[in-house]
Amino acid sequence: MTERSSFPEPRPILEPTRITRRTLLIASAGITTLAGAMTGATAYAAGEPTPAPASPSGPFSLPPLPYPENALDPVISSTTLGFHYGKHHRAYVDNLNKAVVGTPLADLSLEQVVKTTYGVADKTGIYNNASQDWNHGFYWKSLRPQGGGAPPAALQQKIDASFGSLDGLKKEWLAAATSQFGSGWAWLVLDGDKLAITKTGNADSPLTRGQKPLLTIDVWEHAYYLDYQNRRADYATAVLDKLINWGFAADNLAA
Ligand code: FE
Repeated sequence: MTERSSFPEPRPILEPTRITRRTLLIASAGITTLAGAMTGATAYAAGEPTPAPASPSGPFSLPPLPYPENALDPVISSTTLGFHYGKHHRAYVDNLNKAVVGTPLADLSLEQVVKTTYGVADKTGIYNNASQDWNHGFYWKSLRPQGGGAPPAALQQKIDASFGSLDGLKKEWLAAATSQFGSGWAWLVLDGDKLAITKTGNADSPLTRGQKPLLTIDVWEHAYYLDYQNRRADYATAVLDKLINWGFAADNLAA
């Protein structure tokens, strides 16, 4: 599969804006909207999880971010997280809603839509957006502020049995993250009764491969380019050492 034009990557506006008195007068007309936005920004700064925005018209909604947009800084900057969550993830949800509204797919869970549309030629667009919605919701939970460190004991035992050590796991995960050609994902999964590292291209996930996802790292350029440019290995290493949420993996393992 190739990257779809239906969900283009937004680009930040980098040109400086020259503010004049006329600009300010025009801006004052939108003061109510601005005040509402500032209220939201204050809530983020207080350390509350980022609230989900108003639901788009359709059965699916953007899940709330489990932490403020600046909570992963400096490993992942608030600028990156703002675009990634607020623009990219939102676009997948919006595109999915437009495609399924009024169809039988609108009555399914997100995971069911992913599995139902996988490999169906005329449902590729729906599959891509549904799977990217699911993958991103899982990715946000795979990270946490002050993450990394040592996994819970039961998970550590499983890691030792499957990879020899935590370092062995990290080495294999980093290799998967850096060797994925183009856009995709690097995953820790339960495969049978063993843990394994796997990688998927574009929107694909282990959900359609009979594996249980435990954690993921987004290796699309939009996940790291503003902070790391082309240094994907530096991004993946920093995520593994400082953000990865071992508790989420342990919960998934036990579920
Ligand atoms: Fe992404």
